Amino acid sequence: MLDLTPKEHSERTALRINSCKTCQPVGALYCALGVHNCMPYSHGSQGCVAYHRTFLTRHFKEPAIASTSSFTEGACVFGGGANLKQGTKNVFDIYDPDIIAIHTTCLSETIGDDLNSFIMDLDIPEDKLVVHSNTPSYVGSHVDGYFNMMCGFIKYLSKNTGVKNGKTAILPSWSNPGDLREFKRLAALMNVPITMFPDQSGVMDSPMTDHYEIYPKGGTTIPEITGLGDCDSVIGLGEMTVTEPCEQLKKKCRVNYEVLPYPIGVENTDKFIMALSKMNGGNIPYAIEEERGQLIDLMLDSHIWFTGKTCAIYGDPDYVLGLTSLVLEMGMIPKYVLTGTPGAAFVNKTKALFDKYDVGEKCVSKESGDLFDLHQWVKQSPVDLLIGSSYGKQIARAEDIPFVRAGFPVLDRYGHPLSPITCYKGAIRLVEQISNALLDRIDRDVPDEQFDVIM
Ligand code: SF4
Repeated sequence: MLDLTPKEHSERTALRINSCKTCQPVGALYCALGVHNCMPYSHGSQGCVAYHRTFLTRHFKEPAIASTSSFTEGACVFGGGANLKQGTKNVFDIYDPDIIAIHTTCLSETIGDDLNSFIMDLDIPEDKLVVHSNTPSYVGSHVDGYFNMMCGFIKYLSKNTGVKNGKTAILPSWSNPGDLREFKRLAALMNVPITMFPDQSGVMDSPMTDHYEIYPKGGTTIPEITGLGDCDSVIGLGEMTVTEPCEQLKKKCRVNYEVLPYPIGVENTDKFIMALSKMNGGNIPYAIEEERGQLIDLMLDSHIWFTGKTCAIYGDPDYVLGLTSLVLEMGMIPKYVLTGTPGAAFVNKTKALFDKYDVGEKCVSKESGDLFDLHQWVKQSPVDLLIGSSYGKQIARAEDIPFVRAGFPVLDRYGHPLSPITCYKGAIRLVEQISNALLDRIDRDVPDEQFDVIM
């Protein structure tokens, strides 16, 4: 299989092999699923939305609902305005959402459909809403689609009424429901009232019941999104993803924001807790100190198994930056760090992390890369551990490297979206997974006389 990948590296500009990203509408769809009673709507052909839904369903093991303009040849020639008009009417008539969130696709962007004027021409039922964002897939990645759709909701809905609502808005980067629940749990422990937008918990991790609900209980409500403009302040979690929505909210509603690194690892979580503590007079409950202390204790107890080990980390930029920060705190060397999402800021931030821990000489980072790049690097000089999405499993197998799944997508394991990798609890889980993967390798390889039950 991938063990046929050649060792010699050649620069490629017009070809991606084993991509490390997916297309913008996947992110837009996921963002819209984090809004209560919302039907995501793909303005393009059926094939696109079938792929987007399948991709999300395979990661979350939950149905990802979405509708489509169902373009055929006619729409490609005459534009998709008529399809949008009929499609949104059908969705309101049949599925009765409170809001439809439309995103574009490669096709509707290429033919130049003007969504602003199309939406002005729709027959939107009273008390119902339509928002949109442009998500051309030949630019950026699913990460761009996610924050573009966040901007779309803010642009259409958020308002500054002049009366503050006493809440802190939390705008998270792309997160699993388990992580979103962790952010909410910590804010509740700190006694800080929040609105989190978007919030896919309760939607993409909804429980098995005796009946199917097309719109599960979770998701940020429309009044909450409107009320983002009245929040006291905004905490963005993930510098590479949510700076733009935070800026959009500031421009529109004059709400000040602070964007923090995605809270994976000790220092990044500390920053999140300190930001929350500004909202509650500086009170940090003992329960949070205890979790932090448990994490540090675990790192110290197990450090001999990972200190000095090398790893390769790949995936979405905020995940990768957070994971890089954690492994550096553990004393590991993130030898290869790669994202498929374009953006020079990613390389600058990883280099700043390498310099901070004085490992710059030993580490490489790349944006707009793919897993073919990563495999060639690993072939040239191997690593002790691979951390990233399921798409690295072929490299792990071909090169016989221990592998920890983290980030998006994890298609070949169950339960992953339910458990956090963020904040102190999530870091405890990651340190356990990383040390266990390395210990499993030792157990597999040691001679019989060294095979021991006590480590
Ligand atoms: S055509 Fe474009 S929008 Fe549709 S699935 Fe492919 S990359 Fe995504």
